Amino acid sequence: MAEFLPYGRQTIDDDDISAVCDVLRGDFLTSGPAVAGFEAGLSQVFGDSHVVASANGTTALHLSMLALGVGPGDVCIVPSVTFLATANVVRYVGADVIFSDVCADTGVMRAQDLEDALQRAAGRPVKAILPVHLGGHVAPMEQLAGIVAAFPQNKVPAIVEDACHAIGSRYTTSEGEFTVGDCRHSTMANFSFHPVKTIACGEGGATSTRDPELAKVLAELRSHGMVRDAGRFQNKDLGFDGEDANPWFYEMHAIGYNFRITDMQAALGASQLKKLPEFVARRQTLVARYNELLQDCGPLIEPNAALAGSTPAQHLYAARIDFEAAGRSRRQVMAAMRDAGIGTQVHYIPVHTQPYYKALYGEHVLSGADRFYARTLSLPLFPAMEPGDVDRVVGALKKAVGVNS
Ligand SMILES: *Cc1c(COP(=O)(O)O)cnc(C)c1O
Repeated sequence: MAEFLPYGRQTIDDDDISAVCDVLRGDFLTSGPAVAGFEAGLSQVFGDSHVVASANGTTALHLSMLALGVGPGDVCIVPSVTFLATANVVRYVGADVIFSDVCADTGVMRAQDLEDALQRAAGRPVKAILPVHLGGHVAPMEQLAGIVAAFPQNKVPAIVEDACHAIGSRYTTSEGEFTVGDCRHSTMANFSFHPVKTIACGEGGATSTRDPELAKVLAELRSHGMVRDAGRFQNKDLGFDGEDANPWFYEMHAIGYNFRITDMQAALGASQLKKLPEFVARRQTLVARYNELLQDCGPLIEPNAALAGSTPAQHLYAARIDFEAAGRSRRQVMAAMRDAGIGTQVHYIPVHTQPYYKALYGEHVLSGADRFYARTLSLPLFPAMEPGDVDRVVGALKKAVGVNS
């Protein structure tokens, strides 16, 4: 029998292993040259933005909230179909989440969904909007930025992209083509390098911004809030010996954390980053094959929905399945797929239905999120797959759902 196909997995070659071993033989295991090198590599991909790498995608998002000064009394808007972390980081800083609905087909927050969520904010201060590029499909950034720009000047919320699925994704607006992470329509964009994501560090994350001051703050908060820039020392008597700054000296002006990434992880990330174009092309080839094979499986199975203006580097392939009409539950379909040696997964349970959030904000209906969730099933998608593996997955899926053709 063919080998088990998980829904996602990392692709690690000998050169990746060598890159990590080189770090282990060197002088720095953390906060060394591999971290700076990884940040520089990411910056290049993101059109020379400023990049701060951190321990994982969650810390990257959390640092974004801290750097913006989001806190108690503020609200942030988060689409309900996402991983828990997008909402949780808002709670870490004591602010409140307003869950927006999403498109029932793509699971992505649209302009109308954001408008509705802003209505529900009912005048409370909206500090940040966190669009999620679900599965790599880019949210309509130009439209979201347009909504934000209409706020009174001193009340403009920041757009903080959760781009954990979307390294390598591109999008087109009326002004041209953009790369996710270049932050032309946002204040910051955040990435995850968990093994199932498009490039792997093991654990790793990064925040990208075009604002150098914000990048400085992010970097300080990543390491306890330590300030080493003598020009900003406030305790002049302690910090200086006459005109000269004391070499050991640092100050803390705001509370930070240890959210650092190690050099081993960063070296793996930098090595993987070199293969990003290859990984993305491979994912696109596999997606095209899925789309081709699933296009006439309707109405029981529909291919992953595309989004206008988005050229995704897809992290997930989310088929849409009418389980009710098929007369088979999602659990039964997943079990049949597992028996055929194929892993599937559900991305995601709408976060507004989680007991923690229901206890905080009560029950409410987000019909797009509920409909997306009811039908979605993520099929295997990772660079080591062959197009023939896609044929095998689709064959098993048709059988599991009961599509005859
Ligand atoms: C993976 C992920 C995160 C969190 O990233 P970690 O690196 O696992 O902390 C946040 N948001 C989304 C949408 C993700 O998929």
